[in-house]
Amino acid sequence: MPSPYRGRFAPTPSGPLHFGSLVAALGSFLDAKAHCGEWLVRIEDVDKTRSQSGAAEVILKQLQDHGLVWDGPVVQQSDRDSIYQHKLEQLAHYLYSCDCSRKAIRARADCYDGYCRTRQPRSSPHAIRFKNDQPVLTFSDRWHGTVTASTICAREDFIVRRRDQLYAYQLAVVVDDIAQGITDIVRGSDLLQPSFWQLSLWQCLAKRQPRMMHLPLVVDPVGRKLSKQNHAPAIDSRCAMDNLRAAAKYLQLDLPDAQDVADLLSIAVEKWRKKWQITTD
Ligand code: GLU
Repeated sequence: MPSPYRGRFAPTPSGPLHFGSLVAALGSFLDAKAHCGEWLVRIEDVDKTRSQSGAAEVILKQLQDHGLVWDGPVVQQSDRDSIYQHKLEQLAHYLYSCDCSRKAIRARADCYDGYCRTRQPRSSPHAIRFKNDQPVLTFSDRWHGTVTASTICAREDFIVRRRDQLYAYQLAVVVDDIAQGITDIVRGSDLLQPSFWQLSLWQCLAKRQPRMMHLPLVVDPVGRKLSKQNHAPAIDSRCAMDNLRAAAKYLQLDLPDAQDVADLLSIAVEKWRKKWQITTD
């Protein structure tokens, strides 16, 4: 019987992988392999304004150089606009248009207050929001335990199609995770808060919920998340073993010396299995 586990790594191709994204890639890879499951890679280029040409190819090469080899074809969100459109049509009675500016929203409240629910937008272009009538306010996370929404924004009617007509990340990520049969989402803790919105959408679009694990976030010396905006350097594939060992340390695994990357990863999978008491039969 194949393992029912299916995980994924879903980088945004806004630049090459940096150390923070390697930690997320490694954590999701180890969890999938420790469950004898599949590990998919999806290029999240739904936000065309953030995507950098050539970055997806660089990321895939960096993953391979680090022995993080995925199962099945790589899915690219930019090929899936018609699928997102179709889902919006399915969700039609949960949706409404909104032409509020960020400034107008902030002037009224900390989060969006549902102002356009009962009003026809007067100007175009406008965004499309999801009526979040049954918000998810708590969920069980395998790393953090029970997580409760820390702001009322978890109740917000969030955007599923942006004012610039791009499909929103919140919609695309849920549609794709469901379509790809993802059972386990393992990613950085910067995505803990959006998980409440995403789980609300899951409730509408699927009969099941994914398991979640949000990994410790890598921060720079002044406490900011490592990111391309903060000029985090690209990982250097010539130091793949050292990079993997350092990333594993972030995930609370101490790895010994190994012959090569494949050997190091198989030790890491075994250690992850022990750490999380994963049994596969
Ligand atoms: N594409 C997102 C990012 O690079 C990750 C989305 C996810 O793992 O759900 O931050």
